[in-house]
Amino acid sequence: MYNKCGCIQDANKAFLEMPTRTFVTWTSMISGYSQHGQPQEAIQLFEEMRLAGVRPNEITFVSLLSACSYAGLVEEAEHYFDMMKKEYCIEPVVDHYGCMIDMFVRLGRVEDAFSFIKRTGFEPNEAIWSSLVAGCRSHGNMELAFYAADKLLELKPKGIETYILLLNMYISTERWQDVARVRKLMKQEDVGILRDRSWITIKDKVYFFRANDRTHPQATELYQLLENLLEKAKAIGYEPYQNAELSDSEDDEKPAAGSLKHHSERLAVALGLLQTPPGATVRVTKNITMCRDCHSSIKLFSLLENREIIVRDSKRLHKFKDGRCSCGDFGALL
Ligand SMILES: [Zn+2]
Ligand SMILES: [Zn+2]
Repeated sequence: MYNKCGCIQDANKAFLEMPTRTFVTWTSMISGYSQHGQPQEAIQLFEEMRLAGVRPNEITFVSLLSACSYAGLVEEAEHYFDMMKKEYCIEPVVDHYGCMIDMFVRLGRVEDAFSFIKRTGFEPNEAIWSSLVAGCRSHGNMELAFYAADKLLELKPKGIETYILLLNMYISTERWQDVARVRKLMKQEDVGILRDRSWITIKDKVYFFRANDRTHPQATELYQLLENLLEKAKAIGYEPYQNAELSDSEDDEKPAAGSLKHHSERLAVALGLLQTPPGATVRVTKNITMCRDCHSSIKLFSLLENREIIVRDSKRLHKFKDGRCSCGDFGALL
C-alpha cells in the first residue's frame, strides 16, 4: 500500500515493524525499492529474505533483475539470473530476459545482448527486438541493427510504432528497398495510420498541435521562436538529422515551402515557452514516441531558455533540464 503511493520510507518503516514477514511483504518491499531506483537496497533485502529462509518466486526475481538492470549491475544481474535457474529451478520468462537485454542495451553493450540471447536460446518478442534495433542504432552498430530489424520483420509486428522505428532507420540510411518492404508489410498487416499529436494545458485551456500545424493564432511567433532556438542550438552543437525522420502520418500538414518541419511537440513546447512566465515548467503530452531530432533539440531548448521542459510521450517521461534529459537518452532511441 505504501509503495503504491510512492513513499518508500513509510513502507520501509511499516515493513521493519511487521511482526511476521511473509513472502508477499518481502517481495513487495523488494519491488518497491526496485521501482524507486534503490537497487542496492533491493539486493540487500533479497539476501535477507534468503537468509530468513523465505523462498523467492519468479516475481521476486523480476523485481531484483530490474533493479540490477536499471543500475547497470551486470555481474549481479548475471549472478541472480543463474541463481534463479540453478538454485530455485525457476525457468526464466520474457520479463527476466527483457531485464537482462535491456541492461546490456542501456550500457551500450549490444554485442553482449546478442550473445546473451544466443547463449540462452531465448526468442525475443516484438518489444525486445524493437529495443535491440533502437539500441544498436543509437550506439552506431548498424550491422546488428539491420540484423535485429530483419528478425523483427519476420514476426510481422503489430504495433505501429515498431514500423515507424524501422522506417526511420531505413530512411536515415537511405535503404529505400527496405522502406518499401516495411510499407508493404504495414499495408498487409493493416496497422493503420500514425498521427502525431501533442497538447499543452495553459491556464486550464488545452491546445492541440499536429505536425507542421499553422492553425494556432500565434503560429508565426511559434515558428519564429523555433527558428531562433534552432539557430542558437546549432551554435552549441545541435545537428539536425540529415534525413527528416517520420513520425507523422502522410495526411498531416505539409510544411510551407522553405519553412522548417516541426513535429507536434516542438510546437507545443514553443507555445509553452511563449505563454508561461520565465522559469515556469513547460509540460507537454505527446500521443506517440518522440523522435531523436525533437529529443536532442528540446534538450538544448531547456538549456537556452533556462527552463524545465517535461514531455510525456507514449513510452516514457522526459524531463529536460540544463541540456539533459532524465531518460538518459534511452527513451529517444527512435
Ligand atoms: Zn520529432
Ligand atoms: Zn528523454
